[in-house]
Amino acid sequence: MTAVPQAPATSSVPPDGSAPAAPGSVSGVGEILALFRDGTALTRSEVMTSTGLSRTTVNQRLDQLLQARLIAPAGEDSPTRGRPATRFGFNAARGVLLVADLGATGMRAAVCDLNGVIASESQQRIDITEGPDRIIGLVGEHFTRLLAETGNTPHDVHGIGMSVPGPVDFNRGVVVNPPIMTGWDGYDIRGWFARSYDCPVLVDKDVNAMAFGEYRRNFPTTGHLLMLKLGTGIGAGVVVGGQIYRGADGAAGDIGHSQMTQPDDEDQPLCRCGNVGCVEAYVGGWALMRDLQAAGRDVASVDAAIELALAGDPVAVQITRRAGRVLGAAVAGAVSLFNPRVVVIGGQLARVEGQLFAGIREMVYRRSLPLATTRLQIVRSSLDNTAGPIGLALSVADAIFAPDAVGRLITDPA
Ligand SMILES: [Zn+2]
Repeated sequence: MTAVPQAPATSSVPPDGSAPAAPGSVSGVGEILALFRDGTALTRSEVMTSTGLSRTTVNQRLDQLLQARLIAPAGEDSPTRGRPATRFGFNAARGVLLVADLGATGMRAAVCDLNGVIASESQQRIDITEGPDRIIGLVGEHFTRLLAETGNTPHDVHGIGMSVPGPVDFNRGVVVNPPIMTGWDGYDIRGWFARSYDCPVLVDKDVNAMAFGEYRRNFPTTGHLLMLKLGTGIGAGVVVGGQIYRGADGAAGDIGHSQMTQPDDEDQPLCRCGNVGCVEAYVGGWALMRDLQAAGRDVASVDAAIELALAGDPVAVQITRRAGRVLGAAVAGAVSLFNPRVVVIGGQLARVEGQLFAGIREMVYRRSLPLATTRLQIVRSSLDNTAGPIGLALSVADAIFAPDAVGRLITDPA
C-alpha cells in the first residue's frame, strides 16, 4: 500500500508563527483553515495526517470551508497508481482588503487579495497635520476608486487596515497624543469607516506594519525581526515569536528617543521631543538637514541631504557615518535585548546604505554578544514602500481568519 503523502512540516504551523498544533488537538474549522493559509494546497488525507482527525470530521469541515468559499479546489495529485486526489487551497479571491499607509507627507492606498497581494494601488502627497477629517476623507476616496478599478464593491471588503506615523492604542484603534499628527488624538477612525464598510478596521503604527510585512514576506521562518524606519524621524518595529511586540501600552519600539550620549560630544543635540541626545537628534532626517545647514550646505529637504551624501560631499559623508555609529549603538542595545535573527532597515535614509550600514554593523558586532550576532543578518528592506501596505493587509487577514473569528464567515457566507 502506498504511504499517505506527508504534508510539508510547515503546513501545521499557523501563519502567525505560534506553536504548531499537535495532532489530535485541531478540531475547529478555523484551525483547519489555518493549515491552508500559508499557501499550502492539501488533500483530504494530508489534512487527516496533519490534524489526526477522522475522515468523517475532516470531510465535514472541508465541506463547510468549501461552501463558505474559504477554500477551493487547487489541482489534483497524480499518484503513480490509484485515483487522483483533489488538492484544496485557500481562496484568496473570496474578497478583498483595503489598506492605507499614511506618512507625514504622503499616503499609499491599496486593494489587496486575502493573501495580502496588492491588486492595485495609488499614492498622493498629503500633509498629515491637516487633520483626520480631511486625510481620512482622502483615504476613503482612494478606496472607492481602487474598488471600482478592480471591479469590487464595499460588500467585497473583508477588512480595512490603516497605519499612521504616530503612537497607536492598538486595541482601541486610535492614535494617542501624536507628536506630529495635530488633531488626531483619540479620533474615531473605526467609526468613520463603519459608515461605508461592514468589516473589521485595524489601526497600527507605520513601522509595526512594515516589520510584519518584512517578516511574513521575506523572513517567514525566523519569527524574530527588528525593523528600523529611518526617515524624518526614527522608529522601530519588533516581531517576537511571529507576533508584533507592542509592549504594555503600544509604545514599544520608540528607539528614536532613547538617549544616546556620546562621550566626546560637548554639546548634546536638542531633539524634537524636548530632550537632548536622543538617537533621532543625531540620525533623523531633520537632524541631518540641521547639521548640513550648520556646515553651510544648502539643503532644503531630507531628500536633498540624502543626495548630497550619495554624491560624496565630505561633510555629508562624515555626518551620515556618525549617524550610522550612533544608530548602531542603539541597535546593539536592541539586539542584546531581543536577539532578533534579522535587522531590516527601511525608510528614505536607507538609500545612503553605503555610509549608514557600515557604522551600524561596526557597532552591533562590536557591542553585542557573539551568540546574538553570529547568525544575525542586517539587511536593507527589499519591499521598500510596499512593506507597510503588505504588512497591514496580512495583519488584517490574520485577525479575520483567526480560528475563533472564522465562524462568522461560515455562518454568514458572502
Ligand atoms: Zn527625542
